[in-house]
Amino acid sequence: MKRIWKDVDRYLEERLCGSEPEAEALDAALLANREAGLPAIDVSRSQGKLLQLLARLSGARRVLEIGTLGGYSTIWLAGALPADGRLITLELEAEHAELARGNLRRAGLERLVEVRQGAALDSLDELIADGEKPFDFIFIDADKPNNPVYLERALRLSRPGTVIIADNIVRGGEVVDGKSTDPRVQGIRKFLEQLGADRRLSAAALQTVGGKGYDGFAVAIVNGLEQDRSL
Ligand code: SAM
Repeated sequence: MKRIWKDVDRYLEERLCGSEPEAEALDAALLANREAGLPAIDVSRSQGKLLQLLARLSGARRVLEIGTLGGYSTIWLAGALPADGRLITLELEAEHAELARGNLRRAGLERLVEVRQGAALDSLDELIADGEKPFDFIFIDADKPNNPVYLERALRLSRPGTVIIADNIVRGGEVVDGKSTDPRVQGIRKFLEQLGADRRLSAAALQTVGGKGYDGFAVAIVNGLEQDRSL
């Protein structure tokens, strides 16, 4: 990772992040996560703030997150919600889920946020079977080989206008290697094919550099009938 990427990230974060009401809870969550030995694979501070801004821009009241870790991105996203909003976040590992619950409690978010522990695919199927109302904003950030099925389930939990974001779609540039034997790269490649081919969606993706290295994210919106030019 280039030193300048890190320095610029710090420069931008010092100026644009840190005055949010949840700033202290975010720092405390990161500290708790590192002390518990969780890998530092949470979104960066700027990425978290960007997620919060995108959720606010979309007017989200109901957010679904796939991949909680210790709840760092969850706290950012919950900061976009009104007092009667709802956020469900899905996490496989019991230890991560428990830590996230503690971090969310400390942030005063336990009433707004539900951490569901288990394989995300099972939880998504439960949400669908329970007739859960559509979400306004969905953040996909778990096991990348499953991104294609997560997208399919996300669409079933969406409405026209729902925003879907996926993290880590560039993978240091490996995404262009069609022969890659890394199932995460192949999962992302299939996911991007789906995003581009599905007429229910309009999507774009951006490469990013920063303190977390070279990667990128995809943003999609579920189209309404007026966007379907085939009609
Ligand atoms: N969104 C988090 C943040 O920025 O703070 C980071 C999430 S981390 C990149 C990915 C998380 O997905 C890990 O905590 C991992 O345990 C979880 N995960 C992996 N496979 C999963 C699965 N099948 N179902 C649910 N969660 C899964």
